[in-house]
Amino acid sequence: MGGTRTDAGTDSGTSTVTVFGLGLMGQALASAMLVGDRETTVWNRTPGRADALVERGAREAADVRRAVEAGDLLIVCVRDYRAVREFLDPVADALSGRTVVNLTSGSSAEAREMAAWAAGHGAAYLDGAIMMTPPGIGLPDTVLLYAGPADVFAAHEDTLRLLGGGTTHLSEDTGIASLYDVALLGIMWGSLNGFVHAAALLAADGVTAKEFLPFATSWLGAIGVFTGVVADQVDSGDFAAVDASLASHLSPVEHLIDESRARGIDASLPEFTRGLLTAAIARGQSGDGYARLIEHFRPGQA
Ligand code: NAP
Repeated sequence: MGGTRTDAGTDSGTSTVTVFGLGLMGQALASAMLVGDRETTVWNRTPGRADALVERGAREAADVRRAVEAGDLLIVCVRDYRAVREFLDPVADALSGRTVVNLTSGSSAEAREMAAWAAGHGAAYLDGAIMMTPPGIGLPDTVLLYAGPADVFAAHEDTLRLLGGGTTHLSEDTGIASLYDVALLGIMWGSLNGFVHAAALLAADGVTAKEFLPFATSWLGAIGVFTGVVADQVDSGDFAAVDASLASHLSPVEHLIDESRARGIDASLPEFTRGLLTAAIARGQSGDGYARLIEHFRPGQA
């Protein structure tokens, strides 16, 4: 991945950083700290993964306790929250006065529980979600989402911004970053499923995925505009169609099902969409816009 690394100053709250976990993501996080000239210590459960970082100026802690003691800002990125507690629990007494930034993927409940656990040991806590793969760490467009106390984020913002220019504090509610994470991933899987279904359909008639790609990419941009209408209507509760009615969505969905079946392509994605549309139309909502389908996803709360 190309691009220019983000440039961040030195914030008042961070003087030393420890990165816990040197998997694919942890390596990239530690590397960005070194690029940003932060005094960086690294620790990994299994030894032997720190060599390249040490060559570039990182210090490898001999054990977890020394790793905690070496950092004001403790950046954690391991497999899951259970793993975090497994190695931090035995050294929890050393956390007091430090800030834990947990970039491990998990649920909102796990994030809130971890915040309470950290507070119980006198540590400040931010929970974060990384919306990128390791090669994108440190680039200007890379998004990392944070939740937890705003003053803690502000104290370390310059250092955290080294990981990506799209670094954003969302909420004081520690669970919110994890919730955004899975919500965004859901959109990603929906879009990727749509793309691979479309690619299968076109391949059956001799069009390669690469030939189709520019049209798909530009269409995803247009969908961003449609989504703006849906967002307004979901928030306002006024579902009268302003761009396309549910009735007008139905026949192209039928065409997609027919074209798929005619080529032996799995049609379950458009069949799901047809089910949403026909149920809403049966409820008398055919003149409403797509936002009306929110009622399927949150029944009883329209
Ligand atoms: P990875 O390459 O599989 O590395 C996993 C890391 O977790 C290793 O450092 C491993 O240490 C450590 N670990 C596992 N169990 C442990 C335990 N019980 N105690 C201590 N350390 C333990 O995974 P990754 O890609 O770096 O992902 C790390 C986190 O970032 C995950 O929560 C993932 O969901 C999240 N994330 C990843 C990406 C991505 O694109 N890779 C993107 C966004 C978020 P050992 O070397 O000792 O096994």
